[in-house]
Amino acid sequence: LFISFEGIDGSGKSTQARLLAEALRALGHDVTLTREPGGSPGAEEIRRLVLEGAADRWSAETEILLFTAARRDHVEKTIRPALARGDVVISDRFADSTRIFQGITRGDLSATVDTLHDLMIGLEPDLTLLFDLDPAEGLARATARAGAEMRFEDMGLAFQTRARSGFLALAERHSRFRVIDGARAPQVVAADTLALATAALGG
Ligand code: C5P
Repeated sequence: LFISFEGIDGSGKSTQARLLAEALRALGHDVTLTREPGGSPGAEEIRRLVLEGAADRWSAETEILLFTAARRDHVEKTIRPALARGDVVISDRFADSTRIFQGITRGDLSATVDTLHDLMIGLEPDLTLLFDLDPAEGLARATARAGAEMRFEDMGLAFQTRARSGFLALAERHSRFRVIDGARAPQVVAADTLALATAALGG
């Protein structure tokens, strides 16, 4: 089973991914917890190239190529081998983040993102959990977090608002999505998350 966690910055998805991994391991499942950009040694190198330095270091098109290259390596080296072993794979972000952050928030490059995905990735999660949150709240949480890698804090609320709408529109189009209200207390959100994951596991 392949589960992706998506949402705007500060939505709580990384905390929830960790909590779900712990809960499923406690139930006896083998779990691979991974993240994007990154998730394999090569993809983590690409992550540094993309997230460090000025936000305008790469054009939007070049950035799509870098994210796609990172994802290709992540899928080859980490995700497919884990699925083949029978692990539950939990990825903190996957292709939907590229559909939003590279595909729509800075002009419309959706067709390019989709074409590259079909050509080079061709894998979708079985279940995508979208942690939905008011963008002002997300921004406040994300900027409060010490050492957070935030590319878009300068671009602020308008950017996060476009990203939120984009994620919600994707969720309406694809049946693999479940939208989770991320404004609630972490343990309440975690209970919802575990219930959706165990339902997908057939339990
Ligand atoms: O999920 P995480 O907080 O680790 O993401 C790090 C940064 O990379 C965030 O600011 C996120 O918005 C950005 N990002 C991006 N494009 C992606 C995935 C993440 O710009 N495809």
